[in-house]
Amino acid sequence: MDDISTDPLAPLKTCELHVHMGGCFSVDDLIELAAPYYRDIDWSIFVDAFDMAYGLRPDPSEWFARVVAGDSSGIDAIRRHFIFTEEDGPDFSRFQAKFNLLIAIIRHYIQHIPDGELEGPRRALDRHRIEGVRYVEMRSNAPDTGDPEGFVRFHRLTAQLSIDACTDGFIARYVPSLPRSAAMPAYLELRQLLDDKPDLHEGIVGVDFCNVEEGFPPRSAADVVRRIHDDNAANPAHALEILYHVGEIYFDKSLESAVRWCHEAAELGARRLGHCTALGLDPVVAAGRRGGSHVREKVSERLDQIDYDLTHHKGLEDAGVEIDTAALAVEREQLRGSSPDQLLHRPYDDHRLEQVIHRQDYALREITRIGAVIESCPSSNLRLGSVPSPELHPVHRFIQSDVDLVIGADDPGIFDSPLRREVEWVVETTHLTPQRLFERLGDPLSHRLGRLRQGAASS
Ligand SMILES: [Zn+2]
Repeated sequence: MDDISTDPLAPLKTCELHVHMGGCFSVDDLIELAAPYYRDIDWSIFVDAFDMAYGLRPDPSEWFARVVAGDSSGIDAIRRHFIFTEEDGPDFSRFQAKFNLLIAIIRHYIQHIPDGELEGPRRALDRHRIEGVRYVEMRSNAPDTGDPEGFVRFHRLTAQLSIDACTDGFIARYVPSLPRSAAMPAYLELRQLLDDKPDLHEGIVGVDFCNVEEGFPPRSAADVVRRIHDDNAANPAHALEILYHVGEIYFDKSLESAVRWCHEAAELGARRLGHCTALGLDPVVAAGRRGGSHVREKVSERLDQIDYDLTHHKGLEDAGVEIDTAALAVEREQLRGSSPDQLLHRPYDDHRLEQVIHRQDYALREITRIGAVIESCPSSNLRLGSVPSPELHPVHRFIQSDVDLVIGADDPGIFDSPLRREVEWVVETTHLTPQRLFERLGDPLSHRLGRLRQGAASS
């Protein structure tokens, strides 16, 4: 590893604020985990998914047998079938197929090895220490263990492991991910866990909304978010701040609506916003992806957009967006009689695309004013987020704005790109020197969770 003691970007390379536990496992981790058990592991979840995504039925047992026999070609085979690269294309079924190699191994540990469910979280935390990270906020969904208490048990164990991992100056915090389709019951279960085990408050500092965002507009999270804010206000010392993935993959709606969702997520009171690609990708490029799917959106989205434009028309107009309030009011009345799920088709022209840029400017300024932080994850967006090339990556636009910004690795294991490499990528693809980039972004530790608790402690 590089000596980063004199590196002005060392604070960025050692503070990981956007990472998912499942994405942390490296090829080395897979080999260490699977080598003792490869003959017994049920690989079918991987083999079947790989068949669906790539039309091939690989034999993982044979790779691990080669590795155990000292044949490095086995390592190469594991790498080819696990690391997700640009060559795989922005295809989530292919990502899932490769990810299932890990799932098969972790399932074996959970189902067949005594205390095996501890091994995944422990190793994911260790991986950060090995890569030189000094502070990490690690998120995770609970794996589907098929038992109703699995959700609580997994988060309890992972939170405790995060607390236990804090030695020698290494600090780990844990942020459970809530399923978007059932966020309220999941949040209440989590709160119950924390009431039952108050020592876990040290480990659990927030909640995360992740996975598929399409179909889950920020307003659908309003109730649970309000409950979280109320609970935080009632007991700031035990506050859970909100992390919210938004504007990452949004082919189900217009570019205007995707921009709006990012702004609305900030208005929900999320502390940090994951990705927000919709705010930084050139609209001309964005509109050309996936056969121009952004020309279509549901009536319900269009109505939300009209309401947003009417509510924010002053700020939008100041940013250069043309708002015809009378025409919008008429359109709203016309759409009221339509089915909310009916698809509208509204093609883009040059003028409308240029207007989206002004909307992005407005949303970025509002997010800056609100104080939410954008988390940008270079490799993830290039490989999975349909950002077509490095020079088009939204991080460049974010750097030019005033928004608070951090760099995260998202899935450093399966992307084979640890945090320091992601930060170096930003340096290599911007016009800024390392020193200037640090001056622009500042120390990411200032954006870690816990601010509300600190306020409670000092008041
Ligand atoms: Zn993420």
